[in-house]
Amino acid sequence: LIEVRNLNKFYGKKKVLDEINVTIPKNKVTVLLGPSGSGKSTMIRTFNGLEPFNSGTITLFGETIAANNKKQWAIIQTRIGMVFQSYDLFPNMTVIKNILLGPLKVQKRSREEVIKKARDLLKEVGLEDYENAYPRELSGGQKQRVAIVRALILNPELMLFDEVTASLDPEMVRGILDILKNLANQNLTMVIVTHEMNFARQVADKVIFLENGKIIEQGDGQSFFENPTTKRAEAFLESMS
Ligand code: ATP
Ligand code: MG
Repeated sequence: LIEVRNLNKFYGKKKVLDEINVTIPKNKVTVLLGPSGSGKSTMIRTFNGLEPFNSGTITLFGETIAANNKKQWAIIQTRIGMVFQSYDLFPNMTVIKNILLGPLKVQKRSREEVIKKARDLLKEVGLEDYENAYPRELSGGQKQRVAIVRALILNPELMLFDEVTASLDPEMVRGILDILKNLANQNLTMVIVTHEMNFARQVADKVIFLENGKIIEQGDGQSFFENPTTKRAEAFLESMS
């Protein structure tokens, strides 16, 4: 679904993505792992055009997109959902308004259809009683669920998640991870950056392990966790357990 070839990115003189070559398979879960500062967020953001790069190519849904082609990225972005660590809901809008904004204003879908879909999704994440609440009235975990629903209602073909549980209290983390597991079971194509190793082990069809902007190791989830082939991946897993 995504083919990345010889991708390089610099911040000033610092190379933060170094000759990245990866394939993100369709209908599978790919987990990006690596120490802090290794380039995970930078890499996942290149997948939807949020992060410009210096050289190399990204092919998405069969189309090769140049780093600086804003128009082409804007079209591709309508097919990709992204959820970050901070949920950035609009504070002056209720939950349902936050969710309906994209499908009504951007996708021009019918109000009737999207309200029904929004309610179905809110129910799925256990927030059916909160459609008229404001973000300030919600816990971090609840806000993050709204952010996930807001992305899913756009029917994305690809979902990107960057440390979506990182700013949550431990008791909220499980609920969000269960929602992601549920999405994984529905065969949605997902790329997930996480430090939750047990979760990663459970959902990862594929693992990409980064260090200093380089891919040190990539392969199927099971072999990565049971039999890492590099010393560095082994040491990383050891440090996280
Ligand atoms: P973490 O696990 O802490 O989120 P990460 O793997 O997501 O880390 P990135 O945020 O992708 O790491 O950062 C990769 C490198 O790029 C780091 O060395 C970081 O300092 C650098 N970097 C990130 N954003 C910028 C920026 N806007 N300007 C300069 N350097 C940056
Ligand atoms: Mg990051």
